[in-house]
Amino acid sequence: MSAFPSDLEIARAARIRPIGDIAAAAGVNADALEMYGRYKAKIDPGRLAAPAPHGKVVLVSAMSPTPAGEGKSTTTVGLADSLARAGHKVMIALREPSLGPVLGMKGGATGGGYSQVLPMDEINLHFTGDFHAITSANNALMALVDNHIYQGNALNIDPRRMTFKRVLDINDRSLREVVIGLGGPTQGVPRQDGFDITVASEIMAVFCLATDLADLRSRLGRITFGYTYDRAPVTVADLGVEGALTLLLKEAVKPNLVQTIAGTPALVHGGPFANIAHGCNSLIATQTARRLADIVVTEAGFGADLGAEKFMDIKARYGGLAPSAVVVVATVRALKMQGGVAKDQLTRPDVAALEAGVVNLRRHVRNVEKFGVTPVVAINQFSSDSPEELDWLLAWCAAEGVRAAVADVWGRGGGGDGGDELAALVAQAVETPSSFRHLYPLELPVEDKIRTIAQEIYGADGVDFSVPALKRLADIERNGWGSLPVCMAKTQYSFTDDASRLGAPKGFTIHVRDLLPKTGAGFIVALTGAVMTMPGLPAAPAALRMDVDAEGNPVGLT
Ligand code: ADP
Repeated sequence: MSAFPSDLEIARAARIRPIGDIAAAAGVNADALEMYGRYKAKIDPGRLAAPAPHGKVVLVSAMSPTPAGEGKSTTTVGLADSLARAGHKVMIALREPSLGPVLGMKGGATGGGYSQVLPMDEINLHFTGDFHAITSANNALMALVDNHIYQGNALNIDPRRMTFKRVLDINDRSLREVVIGLGGPTQGVPRQDGFDITVASEIMAVFCLATDLADLRSRLGRITFGYTYDRAPVTVADLGVEGALTLLLKEAVKPNLVQTIAGTPALVHGGPFANIAHGCNSLIATQTARRLADIVVTEAGFGADLGAEKFMDIKARYGGLAPSAVVVVATVRALKMQGGVAKDQLTRPDVAALEAGVVNLRRHVRNVEKFGVTPVVAINQFSSDSPEELDWLLAWCAAEGVRAAVADVWGRGGGGDGGDELAALVAQAVETPSSFRHLYPLELPVEDKIRTIAQEIYGADGVDFSVPALKRLADIERNGWGSLPVCMAKTQYSFTDDASRLGAPKGFTIHVRDLLPKTGAGFIVALTGAVMTMPGLPAAPAALRMDVDAEGNPVGLT
């Protein structure tokens, strides 16, 4: 048997249509379309003739994943293709990939198998330059801050209390901690600094939560980048540079239109981290898609305890969205891992392990229902899944009263028949009346918001705040930030803050070690455990396999 082709081989063999044709079929008027080559374009929402947002939102989330990911992007693409195949007017809204993971361990983020967005190599590399613009805006801010300090520091900024860093969209551990301004009085004021990866920048989160250019400008102005010697917060508006930063982002903020292998239109735009930020594509892209389509399939990073909760309590709140259905992607291999099977044993059929691990899926599904939204389980089929395992899982879902279908959108493509059953269930679910609600009201004190998430979503007994976190809670109230929603930074592998505790643990405490106010994005990050904001490269980075052939075609992008 010949090996299954790689994602890149499938993508390169696919028939790709001129983006103007895809745009026209999606109802984009020509003067709202800005071409970036033949297969990519930006849409200017201000020039779009389409009506106000009306499309129903389907959020694709997942059970607690294995380290490889469970196929949320693949399922998002395949489900949308299958809905289109069934005659629905559908559009995808996805995050843009970060170069860090592309060159590092995970590889690309454009779906997989026969459910991908195209041109996969360009989307995974520099795409339309949005991340470069965000990197430039972030680093322009830091250059302006350091220049302000050098030029006399009228704002009385304390260089030891800076909360903003420079960024780079590359995994580079050697830049985590640096000292800048060395070399004498004309080279700046020395201070300890560091680099984060671009997707961890607050500017990325701001970019993805802004409703339009004016809102982008005011959110940028509200960013707190540090504190004065008197411990008062200093914002971008205090420095007076929110106009310049908005100018740097004015083109990037227009959503990017591409297509799937099956020709379904997709907006791929923005991509904040799912730990230190909320992990969803831009609100502008989601709302633009809702103007153009009846159903919008979108995705949130990590499992439903993180991605879906943040979508509901942060993005949906700022965007005035009410998701109509949540697809919870589950795989037999991840369920077996949740049932205690080691990573290298996951391909061996084991119904007993599946039975032990399914408690994880149950908790995620019940959590979705707490938001008043209908869950649909998508069993993303891998070739190693045995028929007994798949049958057992379908029977379990039926007994639990949860809609579920096996989807082979990776192997057969949503444009084929691999996702027909899933699409039919989702189409039914979006028509089921839902009563969407947020998990907590904004008036609740920050401490209680965190407790509510920990108890209701994670299943914790309670929350333990470190001494620095308690002090930070008091600062947050004093500075008037207490009514912001909370963005939890927790491991995606467990409901607890310990990645090794799998299944659906009970009797545990969530440990909040620090709180980071992100006043521009508009949320308070609660840090549990260690959170990496500048990843490192692995021993054998994906970059070692990459090349360009004699015709200029990419090689070795996964
Ligand atoms: P996530 O969005 O959950 O991180 P992705 O959709 O990006 O996951 O998929 C992660 C990787 O797994 C990709 O390389 C993809 O090609 C692969 N993959 C996804 N679904 C399947 C499947 N059913 N069989 C084999 N590989 C798959």
